[in-house]
Amino acid sequence: MFDIVVRGGTVVTDGAERVADVGILDGRVAALGERLAGRRELDARGTLVLPGGIDPHVHLAYPQGPARVVSADDWQTGTIAAACGGTTTVIDFVEARADETWMAALAARRAEAEAAAAIDFGLHMTFHRTDPRSLAEVPEVIAAGVPSFKFYMAYDGLRLDDGELLAGFEALAAHGGLALVHAENHDVIRHLVAHHRRAGHTHAAFHPLCHPATGEAEATERALALAAIAGNPVHVVHVSAEAGLAALARARAGGQAATGEVCPQHLVLTDAVYAGADADLFAMAPPLRRDSDREALWAALRDGGLDFVVTDHCPFTRAQRRGQRRTPEFRRTPAGVQPTAPEEPWSATPPSFDRLPGGGAGIETRMALVHHFGVTAGRLSPSRFVEVTSAAAARRFGLYPRKGTLAPWADADVVLFDREREVAISAERLHQNVDHTPFEGLTVRGWPRTVLSRGELLVHDFEWVGSAGRGRFLARGPVAGLA
Ligand code: MN
Repeated sequence: MFDIVVRGGTVVTDGAERVADVGILDGRVAALGERLAGRRELDARGTLVLPGGIDPHVHLAYPQGPARVVSADDWQTGTIAAACGGTTTVIDFVEARADETWMAALAARRAEAEAAAAIDFGLHMTFHRTDPRSLAEVPEVIAAGVPSFKFYMAYDGLRLDDGELLAGFEALAAHGGLALVHAENHDVIRHLVAHHRRAGHTHAAFHPLCHPATGEAEATERALALAAIAGNPVHVVHVSAEAGLAALARARAGGQAATGEVCPQHLVLTDAVYAGADADLFAMAPPLRRDSDREALWAALRDGGLDFVVTDHCPFTRAQRRGQRRTPEFRRTPAGVQPTAPEEPWSATPPSFDRLPGGGAGIETRMALVHHFGVTAGRLSPSRFVEVTSAAAARRFGLYPRKGTLAPWADADVVLFDREREVAISAERLHQNVDHTPFEGLTVRGWPRTVLSRGELLVHDFEWVGSAGRGRFLARGPVAGLA
């Protein structure tokens, strides 16, 4: 007798699709079969039964930039929103302060998440300095379950130059670490921003002009070359342009086992948004690109040139964008929306394009957008959908087969995905703690109906029924053999 039986759905795992019952015992998948008996039954007939989504690139409660504006979703609101969208695992980042060791920052971030997260989570360490003490911490950080490190090639306070990147990559090669690279050319951005500021340009429409696709491609090529020299495995985050994709494809054709990810905003939207009244809401790096880039990204996602879809979820409310608040002015919980404490504005005038907090909301809409514009539109098979929303990220980040599949012994992270459910996307109806979404007004067909995490019901018939603070830290092993 199982604790729960998910009855009669089409079970989709990487590579296979079949109608079966899923038997769950003690929080794990115990059996796939027919006529399984359980103390509780969930009718899955007509739905796709999927391994829970994995979003390995999110920024919850992230104090961003010199102004330290804090991204509007914290570990509680953000992981509730993730679960409502069919994602049962996230991986976020640790950014150590100057006066903090990496290990101390990791412990603090982990405790913050453990107290509030509704779903399981992992962490990446941000590799933003190469002093001897930090380099000596690399094996300790990996042993603590964090084998992946984020490198920024742009942004003051975070970026490393080429020599520093190489030193960091060598440390990872020696200890089994994976480099995640934000590939943009810092000097190109700085030069173009200075040019536009001198010309008196402040509108958000100038933001994408300062982040050209060719700069992304150049940085991608350079990062891959440095990783080839150091011999460490490398993963390119948020590939957004056809030119960046081509750099990744050349490296892979040459035998480098580099991987790449893409975000829903780059698959679904284009730079046309920067002509609109809400252009500042789309300040993100990389920016939205041309329609031809969008199509190239879909083709690569279909054919394997890109490995999986992440959100880079980093929302800011309108008031935060416009310099009136550092923290969000409300907090959305399943019980309702509550105002937060008043706050002095941090900027007297709306910030110019280069001072806007950068990032967008997407943690709740990822699965539905990839399903609608991928599967419903005929670009992806259901099994490729599972691969790019769950299985491939689980493999790359050392979570497979505990996460990313539905097989005996896997955690019972299960999504009953209703392919016919139509949803008009609006910030009002979502659980994300923000007053807009980049996908406002799009109607998608297909939405997660019921979501389990380790056998616990978090979402039932589209309603949040779970609790926060139950999410567990996922310690991951070294990533040897992936260079
Ligand atoms: Mn990011």
